[in-house]
Amino acid sequence: MSTTSVVLDPATEQPVAEVPATTLEQTDAAISRAQAAYPAWRDLAPADRGLLLRRFAVAVDGAVDELAALEVRNAGHTISNARWEAGNVRDVLTYYSAAPERLFGRQIPVAGGVNITFKEPLGVVGVIVPWNFPMPIASWGLAPALAAGNVVVLKPAELTPLTAIRIGELALEAGLPEGVLTVLPGKGSVVGERFVTSESVRKVCFTGSTEVGTRIMARAAEQVKRVTLELGGKSANIVFADSDLELAAASAPYGVFDNAGQDCCARSRILVERSVHDRFLELLEPAVTGVRVGEPGDEATEMGPLISAGQRDTVRSFVEGDGLEVAIRGSAPEGPGYWYAPTVVLPHSAQDRVWRDEVFGPVVAVLPFDDEADAVAKANDTEYGLSGSIWTRDLGRALRVARGVEAGNLSVNSHASVRYSTPFGGFKSSGLGRELGPDALDSFTELKNVFLSTEA
Ligand code: NAP
Ligand code: MG
Repeated sequence: MSTTSVVLDPATEQPVAEVPATTLEQTDAAISRAQAAYPAWRDLAPADRGLLLRRFAVAVDGAVDELAALEVRNAGHTISNARWEAGNVRDVLTYYSAAPERLFGRQIPVAGGVNITFKEPLGVVGVIVPWNFPMPIASWGLAPALAAGNVVVLKPAELTPLTAIRIGELALEAGLPEGVLTVLPGKGSVVGERFVTSESVRKVCFTGSTEVGTRIMARAAEQVKRVTLELGGKSANIVFADSDLELAAASAPYGVFDNAGQDCCARSRILVERSVHDRFLELLEPAVTGVRVGEPGDEATEMGPLISAGQRDTVRSFVEGDGLEVAIRGSAPEGPGYWYAPTVVLPHSAQDRVWRDEVFGPVVAVLPFDDEADAVAKANDTEYGLSGSIWTRDLGRALRVARGVEAGNLSVNSHASVRYSTPFGGFKSSGLGRELGPDALDSFTELKNVFLSTEA
C-alpha cells in the first residue's frame, strides 16, 4: 500500500508536487538492494570510485539552476541561497571524490613483524535530512559515506523531498550503480525509524531536532549502531565595545535571519558589551528594517518565507505568545505564504524562553554583558554549543573568547561557519561527531588493525 504526500510552495501555499511516501516494506526492500550493491561498490578500485563521484559532481554542476529553482519552490529559499546550496553539493562531492585514493592507514612500528591499519567501510549508511537545508545536508552525509566505500539510503524531510529525489536521479545518470545511493521520501516515523531499527543499516547520520536526535541515539544503542548527530543550536554573537561596531551591527541580521532563521547556526542571541549596548541597537535598526524580505525567486530578495504554517505558529508563540517587547521589526509581505518579519526582542532576563530555546525563525534576542568573563559565561549558559561569533579588534581577546566558548564552530569578525573543507559539528546537546573537512571519513569507517609476522 502506497500513499503520497503533497508538497507546498511556502511562498504561495500552492501545491508544487505529489510525492509517494515510501512504506515500511519498500524501505526494507531498498535496504536489501543497497546491501546487495555494497560488495561491488566497496571493492571498486579507489580511482574508479573517485571518478564516479567526480562524474556525479559534474552532473550536479550541470543541474545547479534546475536544483536551485526546485528549492526556491519547495523550500522558499532565496534564489541566491539556493544556487549556493546546489553548488555546495557539487563542491562536497568533488572534495570527497579525492578521498578514496587517500583513505590512508598507518604503519606502526612493532616487534616481530609489520603492523598496518585500514579504514574499512561500514556497509549500509542511513542519512536522515531535515527541511532547512535539504541539499547541503544530504551531501554532507552521502558524499563522505560513498567515498569511504559505503552505500547510502537517504530520507529527505517530508516537507522538502524534491531536490534529494533529483540528486538521486543525477547519481544514476552519472553512472553510480543501482542501489549505491537510494533516496526514499517518506515519513520520519516510518522510513527514518526503520534506518534506526534495521540491523542491516550500520550507521545513521541524522540532522534535525535535539528531541528526535536524542531518541535515535537511544534506539541505536540497542545495536551499538554508529550515529552522527547534528542537532539544534542557540548560538551567541558576542559584540565587544572595541569592535567595528558599525560592521558588527550591519552584519548581525545576516548572522541570524539567513534562511529566515531556520539555520542551526543562527546567531539568535546577541550579547553586547554594556557600554555600547544602546548604540548597537541604534545601528541595528536600519540593518534589520533594510533586510529585503519577499518573493524568493527575485534576485534581490534576502529572506523568504518560513517552511510551513506550523513553523510560523511556533515562531509566533515565542514573541506574541510570550508578550515580549519587540525592539525592532522589519517587513514581510502580506497575503498567502508563511511570512514572518525579522524581529529583534529584548528579553527580561536570561531565563526567558526566547533566550533559552531554539526559535528556528527570524527572531533574535539582545542582552548586555559586563566584561570578557561575563560574555563567555552568558554565551555558555545554554544546553547547546554549535556555533558563534566574536566581534573585537583585540586578537588576543578573540582567541581567548573563542577558546572559552563551548561550541564547535566559531568565527571572529565574521559569521561564516560552514566550509566543505573544515570540520562542522556541535558541543553538548548540539550533536555528536563532525561532518565535512578532512576527518569526516573517520565517522564512516571502522579502523582495522592487522599484524603480519615476519618470523613465521
Ligand atoms: P525533526 O522532526 O527532527 O526532523 C528531522 C528529520 O528527521 C526529518 O527527515 C524527519 O522526517 C525525520 N524524523 C522525524 N521523526 C523521526 C524518527 N522518529 N525517526 C527517524 N527520523 C525521524 O525536525 P522538525 O520536526 O522538522 O523540526 C522541529 C524543530 O527541530 C525545528 O523547529 C528546529 O528547532 C529543529 N531543527 C533543527 C535542525 C538542524 O539543522 N539542527 C533542522 C531541522 C529542525 P519528517 O520529515 O517525516 O518529519
Ligand atoms: Mg518533527
